[in-house]
Amino acid sequence: MNTTSVTSSKVHNFSAGPAILPQEVLAKAAAAVTNFAGKNLSLLEISHRSKEFVAVMDEAQALAKELLNLNDDYEVLFLGGGASSQFYMTAANLLPTDGTAHFLDTGTWSTKAIKEAKKYGNVNVVASSSDTNFNYIPKGYTVPSDGAYLHLTSNNTIFGTQLKEFPTSDIPLVCDMSSDMFSRPIDASKFGIIYAGAQKNMGPSGVTLVIIRKDILGKVERDLPSMVDYRTHIAKGSMFNTPPVFPIYVSMLTMRWVKENGGLAGMAKRNTEKADTLYTEIDRNPLFKGNVAAEDRSVMNATFNVVDEAHAAPFLALCAARNLDALKGHRSVGGFRASMYNAMELDSVQALVQAMRDFETANA
Ligand SMILES: *Cc1c(COP(=O)(O)O)cnc(C)c1O
Repeated sequence: MNTTSVTSSKVHNFSAGPAILPQEVLAKAAAAVTNFAGKNLSLLEISHRSKEFVAVMDEAQALAKELLNLNDDYEVLFLGGGASSQFYMTAANLLPTDGTAHFLDTGTWSTKAIKEAKKYGNVNVVASSSDTNFNYIPKGYTVPSDGAYLHLTSNNTIFGTQLKEFPTSDIPLVCDMSSDMFSRPIDASKFGIIYAGAQKNMGPSGVTLVIIRKDILGKVERDLPSMVDYRTHIAKGSMFNTPPVFPIYVSMLTMRWVKENGGLAGMAKRNTEKADTLYTEIDRNPLFKGNVAAEDRSVMNATFNVVDEAHAAPFLALCAARNLDALKGHRSVGGFRASMYNAMELDSVQALVQAMRDFETANA
């Protein structure tokens, strides 16, 4: 028998995605893998049409609507294919061949969305920060008054910038909220479509939350494959094909947890406190510097670097020794990235700040 000893030392998980989930959610998810809803069967081996799983889907949809204050003009879908599939599904459903979709280009994910939309119609980039490797959010651009939609990325996971406010627009707003979904109160009624891959701030990889204001559909004449047509999934309540049952279950548990912990206002308070704690140290500590314009700093993903490149490797080694995990920056940015999603507790950020202070003392 394998008698591996159990250590209690906490690993501080700064992973950008798949990412940290609440411990109590993981415990419930683990239990459901062996015995779901008292059935003595695994959640993984029962029909998605069983009354027990239908109840999960219903609760997941209801929680998303409740957290975002959405009325019945909106439909909540849980789809496969990742946020990346939404790059083309949004265009396929909303962009006429001779029409124009507008984009705010704020990073790698926006750029990918632009590339996919071009396959369906015209694309106009209203503003871009690509000139400085996306280290700020463009402002002062004219919000287009006509066109199929304006696409935004609310939080730029790789570069560490975040939209602090959303434009008001006469044309539908389509927003990729993958990495800050449910992290703060938003006026969801401003949006035509919100989509989010679950694995950043909501659940495991494998499911994407898609929220659609129904009246924007059906305006494009294009013979869509059934799986690409949002109306198929709306008509079947996200059960046109077998839905990703486990990621949906875990996402539902996480939304319950968000609700029990003060809803979106509660999350914003938690997240602001963590981000303030880290950015204050980045600005104070002479050995470190932030990567992006201060007013655009992401509350979810903080990107920063050492002033002296020779300090990079020893700082990462110190982090590893203190169980500060997954802090290496994305290869397109370098440096460090601390992802502080909803489930992260303040003590993990404090542990990182302490490491930065001790590193300063050791290298003074
Ligand atoms: C991770 C990420 C994606 C890609 O998500 P997939 O589910 O892997 O397709 C898209 N947009 C943003 C903002 C992301 O952070």
